[in-house]
Amino acid sequence: MRTILIALKNQNMINNFRKSFTDNDFEVKTTTDGNEALRSILEDPPEMVLADANLNNLNAFDLLEKIEENEEVNKVPLIVFSQTGAKLHREKALELEAKDFIVGYSDSPRETAMRVKRHLGDEKAYIFKMISNPQAGAELAEDLGYGRETKCSSCEKDLSLYLLRRLELGGDIFQVSLFCPNCSKKYGESDKKAI
Ligand SMILES: [Zn+2]
Repeated sequence: MRTILIALKNQNMINNFRKSFTDNDFEVKTTTDGNEALRSILEDPPEMVLADANLNNLNAFDLLEKIEENEEVNKVPLIVFSQTGAKLHREKALELEAKDFIVGYSDSPRETAMRVKRHLGDEKAYIFKMISNPQAGAELAEDLGYGRETKCSSCEKDLSLYLLRRLELGGDIFQVSLFCPNCSKKYGESDKKAI
């Protein structure tokens, strides 16, 4: 069974994430305190940590540094959770080589669980960048039930299609989402589709 430590400031948020991960067959540990998160990581390293940028005592970035310093656990990947998706949080996550960056108001717990499974090698994903071939991109988007737009309506940058191959469903099912890599805007709900 896969293991994850969820260290978030908000207990309701923890409950939402816990449900998504247990639904996806994870063994879940939780805490609202950074010191406790570090203790838990050192005592019994999980396969993944999801930690809040605003966690009390030690935040996600402090934890990234502490993990990096410790040879016993420096392979444990950590995903930064930011409720607002603040630019500063994103930059720090990148700088400290966090595994991923989750934004509380736009990334659902269900999507997060999918992404974690992908990071752990349980799923395979492809990203199609519209800029690489706008004509084919527009047709593919249309065939998948989206419009033919290839540019973000908010920031006008090129959109990307994210295709997640669901190996546990036999591998011929893809979960698809259309999103803007620049401002993270999403177009429509992601869905299971056979290709
Ligand atoms: Zn955009």
